[in-house]
Amino acid sequence: MLPIEFLDSMRQQLGPEAECLFRALETEPQTSIRLNDKLDVLSFPCDIDEVPWHVDGYYMSERPQFTLDPLFHAGCYYVQEASSMFVQQALDQYVEPNSVVLDLCAAPGGKSTLISQHLKDGGLLISNEVVRQRVFILSENIQKWGNGNVVVTHNKPADFAMHTRNLFDCILVDAPCSGEGMFRKDEEAREQWSVKNVQMCAERQRSILMDVWEALKPGGILIYSTCTFNREEDEENVKWAADCLGAEILPLHHDESWGIYESEAGYHFYPHLTRGEGFYIAVLRKSEEYVPEFKVKKVTLKNQNVEFLSEMQKWLMKPEDWAIRQADRFMTAYPMAYKELIDYLSTCLTCICTGFGIGEIRGKNVAPQHSLAMAKAMKKEAFVQVALTREQALSYLRSEALSLGSLPLGTILLTYEGVCLGFAKNVGNRLNNLYPNEWRIRKL
Ligand code: SAM
Repeated sequence: MLPIEFLDSMRQQLGPEAECLFRALETEPQTSIRLNDKLDVLSFPCDIDEVPWHVDGYYMSERPQFTLDPLFHAGCYYVQEASSMFVQQALDQYVEPNSVVLDLCAAPGGKSTLISQHLKDGGLLISNEVVRQRVFILSENIQKWGNGNVVVTHNKPADFAMHTRNLFDCILVDAPCSGEGMFRKDEEAREQWSVKNVQMCAERQRSILMDVWEALKPGGILIYSTCTFNREEDEENVKWAADCLGAEILPLHHDESWGIYESEAGYHFYPHLTRGEGFYIAVLRKSEEYVPEFKVKKVTLKNQNVEFLSEMQKWLMKPEDWAIRQADRFMTAYPMAYKELIDYLSTCLTCICTGFGIGEIRGKNVAPQHSLAMAKAMKKEAFVQVALTREQALSYLRSEALSLGSLPLGTILLTYEGVCLGFAKNVGNRLNNLYPNEWRIRKL
């Protein structure tokens, strides 16, 4: 049952058309995925259809059991609701690939993986999540996606205004909201909905916008999105930002056939008009008035002597593109082009994961970390590779003991359909499964 007060407010907002929305909310949601460029072709045992606003987005005629697909665990695609892939259109129209971007409300990471793909090798993404328990799934998804251009942080919005004033070319605020657009997918969203909660969300969204605004460069772009329909959390907040923060509301090009509803301040995806869940997006530009440019404060990090450096560099396709740092016995690779900035950020923000873990000292040697196997920057040829069958791959992903016949001693890179799954180590009498225990498949 949809909440009565929700029905009333949507009838006011949409008039008779609201009945079409209510009917759409009682139909089955669409499953959709966005492909990673780790893989050239992906085949599924069901029909697929292109998402018109994202070149890598596909609707699926059925929902496969993703847990049973090793390619899902290797980050070859992300199961993402189709409407939210429209963020790509805002990026294409307003954000250069060499930008520094903050995804402020990032977990579980759907939009961050999309942004990291847009930026590729030229830009840097700070992917932030304020809720502690949600940071880990965010880091996992970022690592599996495999672009090394991301720093995952765990900070409050105001921390960015304090430490990174005027830094970002673009900030995405995919705000926590009352979730009306998820009513079709998520029974809990219906149960938790109330007029009071809508007001509370609207106020919280304004305070998030206000807190982070100073971190945006003059002339920078703020993309604001929610998965809710009501005007308090959508248009009213965007107009408030235009009036009180001095932002300009920008147009977004979209094809008429996509069925996107354009209001006076932003764009709505209504499930009776577009193929996807409810979504709202608006793009704001900060005015260009002169303010001092953000200048990176030079910092010298402790422990600059990295052990096993030349050995680890052999594991990378372009070692010159990566700075490597060591903390305790763990080594991390991160983009050389942003070394000074990232070194500075790690002194003032809570950085959970910077680039990708490359190596770990074990006894007198260095061993590759799992996130290296996920990273697109890894040089596969640096390791002995063994291709697994689907059954062997699933067994590996369940962290089970492996038996793969006779293999050379030492580190083995395990692959499935040409994609890296992770490492194992042949210690002579057995093959140690090095898949991260916390990521293992628990039940099938
Ligand atoms: N962008 C994500 C994606 O595409 O996967 C979804 C983000 S979800 C809509 C909103 C996020 O905001 C949640 O992860 C939530 O924990 C976080 N959040 C909750 N309260 C917040 C606050 N006060 N400030 C910033 N983020 C908050």
